[in-house]
Amino acid sequence: MGGIAVDLMQKLAILGESARYDVSCSTSGVVRDNGGQGVGNASLGGICHTWTEDGRCVSLLKVLLTNHCRYDCAYCLNRCSNDIRRAAFSPRELSDLTLEFYRRNYIEGLFLSSGVLVSPDHTTELMIQTLRLLRREGRFRGYIHAKAIPGTSAGLLEQLGFLADRVSVNIEQCTPAGLRLLAPQKTELAIAAPMRFLTGRLAESREELVRYRHAAPFAPAGQSTQVIVGASPERDLQVLTMAQHLYRNYQLKRVYYSAYIPVNQDHRLPALTQPPPLLREHRLYQADWLLRFYRFDVTELLGTDNPDLDLDMDPKCAWALRHLDRFPVEVNEADYETLLRVPGIGVRSARKIVAARRLQRLRLEDLKPFNLVLRRAGCFITCNGKLAASRLPDETTLRRLMTDRAGTARLAPAQISLEDLGYVCPA
Ligand code: SF4
Repeated sequence: MGGIAVDLMQKLAILGESARYDVSCSTSGVVRDNGGQGVGNASLGGICHTWTEDGRCVSLLKVLLTNHCRYDCAYCLNRCSNDIRRAAFSPRELSDLTLEFYRRNYIEGLFLSSGVLVSPDHTTELMIQTLRLLRREGRFRGYIHAKAIPGTSAGLLEQLGFLADRVSVNIEQCTPAGLRLLAPQKTELAIAAPMRFLTGRLAESREELVRYRHAAPFAPAGQSTQVIVGASPERDLQVLTMAQHLYRNYQLKRVYYSAYIPVNQDHRLPALTQPPPLLREHRLYQADWLLRFYRFDVTELLGTDNPDLDLDMDPKCAWALRHLDRFPVEVNEADYETLLRVPGIGVRSARKIVAARRLQRLRLEDLKPFNLVLRRAGCFITCNGKLAASRLPDETTLRRLMTDRAGTARLAPAQISLEDLGYVCPA
């Protein structure tokens, strides 16, 4: 790292480590490029982001402005009662570092969060100064995701939104009781008010962009949030009901689910011996996908009699197994919504099927180019009246077939294949 001062690297080590547990970064939704001037590029082709196995994005410089924090959230490494190494970047240091790293091709953008230094507004002012230096002096056009501190005033959020591509406010806990227990200095109002402001300002910005040719976009990648799962006793039903509410009423782009990772000893938290609920996090992401792209309502996936997702299989398969009376569906006749509900048929496959059958009735062998997961879909469809399998599996067999690898440790390994059922793979 020649050229970067050693104490700056130490700050980076401390503040990069402190930002590790925030999973809410993603670069989707921005199409701005640098037009041959300036530095960086947030167009779809200019940003590449990679994901670790547990779903964490690693392509941005993900760092805190400071890990000094006045608050004492039970689950957080940076809480004021922890005896950890503390550091703070000056706005100049962080903007220079980001530009250095961008020029060296280490990063594609910046994910900036912070502990609460003095007050939410004071911290946000420092973040704004950093982003101004980056955008105006450094002419940085790359992707920036800025984390707004709960309680930040509207005027500062407005400034932040014109500098960042995405702004997010972490909800952290999905019920007021969970918030009061684990993050007593954060209030529902301090979280909801900035989210409401961002929702309204984003809507105004969309109108301004239509009306005025040179209007500046406000947070063009929208807003997102993060909720920690497993730190308090909320059920998946509560988590996903909240997520659905945020998608419908706050037009959030994403809700990120972060499996609780024990870093503190605190009587309010689950015992440190419990492993992080990563499989639960994975299932929540799958269910979230169904809410956003597959037209499911949360009440179809979960209810008071089944408040948690099945860890052994993805939520769509679990839904199909509870509604076997709706299958098999005929791919030549089922409407788009019905096709979307077939395990193994995704959004793209459903669209391709609908488009292709306008030209001809589809045969089993015609399905091959549509990228169906036939291991799953084959049990739930007919094609021209023909079953993909010579017989329909019973419920127990289906359940074993639908159990995916992530969940097989909980069941005896499925020793059954579609071939055992007489399934004929399309040529
Ligand atoms: S506000 Fe809470 S979650 Fe955020 S850094 Fe401070 S202690 Fe951690």
